[in-house]
Amino acid sequence: MQADLICIGNELLTGLIENTNAGFLSRRLWASGISVRESVVVADDENAIKDALERSLGNSEIAILTGGLGPTDDDLTREAVAGILGLPMVLNEDWLIKMESFFTKRGIKMPEGNKKQAMILSGSKVLPNKRGTAPGAIIELRGKIIILLPGPPAELKEMFDHQVLPYLVLNNHGVQKKVKTLKCIGLGESMLEETIKNIGKWNYPPLSYVAKGYEVNLQIKASGDSEEANAAIQGAETILRETLGDYIFGSDEDTITSVVASMLLSGKLTLSVAESCSGGLLSDMITDIPGSSGYYLGGIIAYSKRAKSELLKIDPGLIEEEGEVSKPVATAMAEGVRTLFQSDYGVGITGYAGPESGKLKEDTGLVYIAVSSPKELVCNEFYLGGGRRGVKERAAQVAFDMLRKVLIKC
Ligand code: ATP
Repeated sequence: MQADLICIGNELLTGLIENTNAGFLSRRLWASGISVRESVVVADDENAIKDALERSLGNSEIAILTGGLGPTDDDLTREAVAGILGLPMVLNEDWLIKMESFFTKRGIKMPEGNKKQAMILSGSKVLPNKRGTAPGAIIELRGKIIILLPGPPAELKEMFDHQVLPYLVLNNHGVQKKVKTLKCIGLGESMLEETIKNIGKWNYPPLSYVAKGYEVNLQIKASGDSEEANAAIQGAETILRETLGDYIFGSDEDTITSVVASMLLSGKLTLSVAESCSGGLLSDMITDIPGSSGYYLGGIIAYSKRAKSELLKIDPGLIEEEGEVSKPVATAMAEGVRTLFQSDYGVGITGYAGPESGKLKEDTGLVYIAVSSPKELVCNEFYLGGGRRGVKERAAQVAFDMLRKVLIKC
């Protein structure tokens, strides 16, 4: 079974809004065994929507349209679909009442324009919108399925997961795929592939590699949700874990931060961080995890030499002699912050995230990361790529991974 995605909106074409709906829908459809043939973005223009839908109906079994279901004059999806399918629009009294109560609950009189959202395509299955006023729709016509979803991602996701997916599965429009993701860190994509190839003959489900900064997600995919598929995935997982050992930090929904967080929590251990080039990103990632107050004591963004010496008590002479971006300074940052916060573990990061005047271009991406613990002090040098933001993100991933490796030993 094949689907096309048609995302509608001028704001997507101008780049003001990133088309996250397409990524979300592609991932969900792929996992449900429905392949996406084409994914296009079209303007808030009735003819453009009609063209895209006509092409899709000629090629695929399913057409999914997102956006343009709102109350304003530039929301034209319903009109375009009605035109192409030759379906009249009818007033849905139930949805009109629901919309009126949506506004009443918020103490607002429903604007006249919203009534347009209660006009639905005749014969369509209405998909109630739990988070907004634009209902979605599923239309089955001449062997094709046309699905209309609202543009706002929160509304679309809720509607797709709770109404569209169950509909597709119930009607056997996809073959559920079983996917296990093993999350790896510390080995690049090609090294990982080479290591796995060295296992020899691969009698398990196929693997795919998805690089995410310093991490690589290794996906094991099997068709169906049978005992056989589960056993095949289990077999592959066992051999991959034996081969890759600690390069695998988690699976499926785990993140490097969540894994480190649970290690700290279960060991009743505390952490503090001293950041220079990562500018607080490490701290931000730590506090994204619920329960971080259980182990995270605090952080210092010591961006300047003065901050490093005054807040972290690093000898100014050491900074002058070794340079702000050096192993001794990263180490002193990790130890300084650990002493300052009296934490079990301290992390120090210093590096060149981007090109700067007075610095050699080759130094861009040079980062030193140190972890200070009751038992050991480690500091490593890295050359990280990915532009300013990429270097910061990779530095944070690497720092968590170093911390994880130190925690494994304790
Ligand atoms: P509404 O009732 O909110 O107008 P709608 O179905 O008409 O619903 P649009 O007007 O097309 O939706 O989009 C509303 C907002 O949703 C956009 O301004 C944008 O912020 C977001 N949005 C729309 N399409 C996408 C998309 N493909 N990816 C990410 N965000 C999107």
